[in-house]
Amino acid sequence: MQQLSELKSVDLEEKSESQITEKIKKLGLVREAFAAIQIDMNPVSKKVGDVKYDATLCDHNCTTVLNGEPTGGNYTCPAAISLNKGLNPKDLAPTEKIIQGLKSSLNGILASRPEFFSTIFPLYCIENKIPSHISKIYESILQEETIEVNLFGGSPEIHPGILSIIQDIQSGGHKAHLTTTGKRMMTNPKFLESFLENPSDLLAFGADDFESVEFLKGCFSMSLDDLKDNWKKTPWYQGQRKKAYEAIYITRIAKDNKKFPPILYNLVVHPGNLNEIYEIFDYLTEHAPNVVLNPYPVQTAFFGSESEYNESHLQDLEKLIDTIIAEHIHYANGGQLRWNIVTRVHYWLMLKSVYLNFNNTKERANMIGGENLWTCYKAPGAGRCVQVASSQTKYEEGKDIPGGHLGCFWNSKTVNDNRQIWNMNENEIKNWIFDGRVELGNTAKNPCKGCGFPRMSFDSISLEIGLGDTIRDTYFKLRKEKIGF
Ligand code: SF4
Ligand code: SF4
Repeated sequence: MQQLSELKSVDLEEKSESQITEKIKKLGLVREAFAAIQIDMNPVSKKVGDVKYDATLCDHNCTTVLNGEPTGGNYTCPAAISLNKGLNPKDLAPTEKIIQGLKSSLNGILASRPEFFSTIFPLYCIENKIPSHISKIYESILQEETIEVNLFGGSPEIHPGILSIIQDIQSGGHKAHLTTTGKRMMTNPKFLESFLENPSDLLAFGADDFESVEFLKGCFSMSLDDLKDNWKKTPWYQGQRKKAYEAIYITRIAKDNKKFPPILYNLVVHPGNLNEIYEIFDYLTEHAPNVVLNPYPVQTAFFGSESEYNESHLQDLEKLIDTIIAEHIHYANGGQLRWNIVTRVHYWLMLKSVYLNFNNTKERANMIGGENLWTCYKAPGAGRCVQVASSQTKYEEGKDIPGGHLGCFWNSKTVNDNRQIWNMNENEIKNWIFDGRVELGNTAKNPCKGCGFPRMSFDSISLEIGLGDTIRDTYFKLRKEKIGF
């Protein structure tokens, strides 16, 4: 592998528009979708003292400890069962409310397009020095009215209306992505059969719990019955391991079944898998060719924590960042990708800019963990992924329905709106997308410090609008050097 500094940049000055379009798509600079929605399907009510708030219902237990004993997990998720005893699935928002709210949200996004093309996009092109031949191509790709709706929230398969919701999204000409654990598909053949009659457009699993290449080798070589048996024998409190078996089980049955949609693995790169990350990518690319990998570094700033990376992790991560940037350039210049990864060169250039701009371990680590890296509320257009999640609002039992708030799944104290999508019209939603979100973010008492979730920064346009000030100049210098503008 060549060093990043030795690599030629991508030539985007070629004569043919179709050649440049192809390179832009290969680099993943813009996507064939105008925007996205990510909805937490599973908020239910949780009593804290005498008051009820939203909490996410999940059927897994991803924690590092249980009753003081280690579970083998690498992280503790606030939705884990052991932390949320007594949550009731009966509290889930009714299917018809979700469908109604999604319709308003989809219409609100479509209604925001004229403002995007007349004001936000031209200003973005000036401020971010986008050459006119590139901006024309961006604009033509963005004419696509498709919106990706990511059904999300740990295990959205739990929601009784999940299949009707998928169908409804698709009947409106949009794409339904299902980000889940796979437990219901693995354990309930009737549910799997119904899902495959009308599958989502993408099935996404978390792959950050694949402990090692040895673990993967075991899971991909044993029989499916043995894999299920190992899952059964894994105690309920080892949620991360259970989730890993479920994802691999579904991946393996999907490989030879054409009814399955493409599969994506969200792969958080953390201190526990960093030392084997190349081998994990190589193994999955060879043994799970039906899977696209979506790697990104572990995020910590959105909940106000310090990064988990030390100096040695940061050095390994920088090598990975360099390799992935080099892979993008090689691919755009006509080569083959080494790994089946989601391409988004701007995202990796943003991470590299952190290294070029800061020498201090703590500053680097925290910024890679999201602090001042990128914010969805920096300016209109930064957030083109509309999240629907919980809120901190108390509510009345029997009267209010949990969830359905425009806002953020990970940080519910910054841009979350008290209104719920099923009670909002498209105009109210449109106003929240650009101005409402920015206003809430800028007036929040303790605003979210930022994040580097690739799904949130969406494409190079949203990423560059929300990019942290300290790395902007470095980023643009690097963009010029590596992709020519
Ligand atoms: S499956 Fe996802 S939402 Fe559920 S506990 Fe694990 S990490 Fe949390
Ligand atoms: S920057 Fe926005 S999208 Fe990212 S975690 Fe914070 S509130 Fe959520």
